[in-house]
Amino acid sequence: MSSNLQKTIQSNIKIQGVGLHSGLKGNLCLKPAPANSGIVFKRTDVDNHKSIIDGSYKNVSSPILCTKIVNSHGVSISTIEHLMAAFYGEGIDNILVEIDVPEIPIMDGSSFDFVEAIRSAGIEEQKSTKKFIKVLKKVEVKEGPKYISIEPLANDLIIDFEIIYKNPLIRTRRHEFKLSNGDLNSIYNSRTFCLYEDIDQIINQGLAKGGSLDNAIVVKENKILNDNGLRHRHEFVDHKILDCLGDLMLAGHRIFGHIKTSQGGHQLTNILLRDFLSNKSNWAIETLEKNLKNAEDASYIRPFAVNA
Ligand SMILES: [Zn+2]
Repeated sequence: MSSNLQKTIQSNIKIQGVGLHSGLKGNLCLKPAPANSGIVFKRTDVDNHKSIIDGSYKNVSSPILCTKIVNSHGVSISTIEHLMAAFYGEGIDNILVEIDVPEIPIMDGSSFDFVEAIRSAGIEEQKSTKKFIKVLKKVEVKEGPKYISIEPLANDLIIDFEIIYKNPLIRTRRHEFKLSNGDLNSIYNSRTFCLYEDIDQIINQGLAKGGSLDNAIVVKENKILNDNGLRHRHEFVDHKILDCLGDLMLAGHRIFGHIKTSQGGHQLTNILLRDFLSNKSNWAIETLEKNLKNAEDASYIRPFAVNA
């Protein structure tokens, strides 16, 4: 958050890997993109005119077990959240994400490989100023026992996440992540997880075809089936924070605000973004220099290329 200039990567990044849900091996290519173009996805295996999907919360469809975006032609890309979290944390504003299958590779189940690749490609500062979404009013969403809210906070992002599991090992855990404290590595390194008893049901839904102990933590009663256990003690809840960070990146700009959630997930974060951003009295566009543009001028986050 130290620089107020927009950022992209210095050179192309190529990554290969398998999709968690589809099991398909994909070639991912990240390319530098011009200022104010945002995060744009492109499916290189479909006709050119149908290939672009804007990285927007408006394009999220059925956010069950992963975040999937779809364009007006029905072309989709799944499991974008760990890549989006890497962009959020590394300060990337503009990038073209090319992929030749309908799912981003899961890698080790965390954002680690994406972050390493971005850091080794190098980050390029661009001439345009970063814009942020400043929260003006509290907005909350409740769905049964699940809850998420966003509240005003000056020049920072806090995600206060609580998970509640009946499983004796995961149990109830709560962790507060503050972006300015810079403890991103434990968030980046936290892998996705599931309960052993849920695996059959997930597979019956046609999901997790690429799932293995190499890309997910599997918990059976009070035991972790992966050889080396957890990477750190907050790994379960920190992965949920990672997912939340990635889903927030779909707002189009980083957010100055305080998120509180209990049992949140992809779906709840998307409902919150839709509620929060649909009412322009809830937020304003701000730059780090505090030179607030007038609301009409700023008027929107940025033009969405697809499904505007
Ligand atoms: Zn995840």
